[in-house]
Amino acid sequence: MHSTASDGALTPTELLTLAAEKGLKELALTDHDTFAGLQEARTAARDFQIQLLEGMEFSCAWKGMTVHLVALWPQGLSEAAWEVARIQEEARWSRAEKILIKLAKADIHLTLDEVVAQAGGRVPGRPHFAACLIAGGHVKDQGQAFRKLLGAGKLGDVKNHWLELSDALSLLLSAGAFCSLAHPLRYKLTRSKRVRLIEAFAAAGGQGLEAVSGRQDVAQTASLIKLAATLNLQLSWGSDFHAPGPACPAPGAYATLPSACQPLSQLLA
Ligand code: AMP
Ligand code: MN
Repeated sequence: MHSTASDGALTPTELLTLAAEKGLKELALTDHDTFAGLQEARTAARDFQIQLLEGMEFSCAWKGMTVHLVALWPQGLSEAAWEVARIQEEARWSRAEKILIKLAKADIHLTLDEVVAQAGGRVPGRPHFAACLIAGGHVKDQGQAFRKLLGAGKLGDVKNHWLELSDALSLLLSAGAFCSLAHPLRYKLTRSKRVRLIEAFAAAGGQGLEAVSGRQDVAQTASLIKLAATLNLQLSWGSDFHAPGPACPAPGAYATLPSACQPLSQLLA
């Protein structure tokens, strides 16, 4: 799940409050490329007696496109894990500056201050740029911001920025993370290229495949579970919760794991 530490709508405390209302006992906070929400989340998790799984959704590159890894530290964050966060936050700051320069080429002049303000003072992501573009009347909504300016292949999509998949996995694994390939169905890939991505991820040491992300087709889930088995990948399962509303399933909306999924706590026991 995401909080205001990246592009989620709820603060860590609000997120944990909602999770407690929904009766959750465990929650993984995986903000994009940062641990900035974790300290607040730890306090709230303790108050609500929710087991907090600490991690991040790590941005990396594969064949020129951005791919996300769900990196989890079930045994707690190591020094090396904090170093990963430092590297990624720095990469996000430098990308933000590159996006500003790119937009200026399209005669759209945003300042770093206004984008950072949209991000609540933290490092901005593309949704915060989208919010500025909407506020400035350049686009009508987030969908249009990505379709016209920020999405894959568009002007504001900075190329060659993130670590390559295999380097990202080396870094994360050496920092003690359990790594699952996030939302494999969300990338714009043909089926065969998606299989190649998952194979490349497994070959580079990736451990898990996110068999369910948000809402998805049951048949597609079954096909991912089968592929994971052939590649010896564990399964993970996430809501990718960003905000209350129709776009994301509510925390805990899925009551049971698919039977092929083994909880991480058991896996590591
Ligand atoms: P970033 O990590 O800063 O590159 O931003 C990625 C985030 O932007 C994703 O987690 C989504 O929330 C959002 N996003 C990505 N693609 C789109 C899209 N086509 N339309 C709307 N939002 C998107
Ligand atoms: Mn993602």
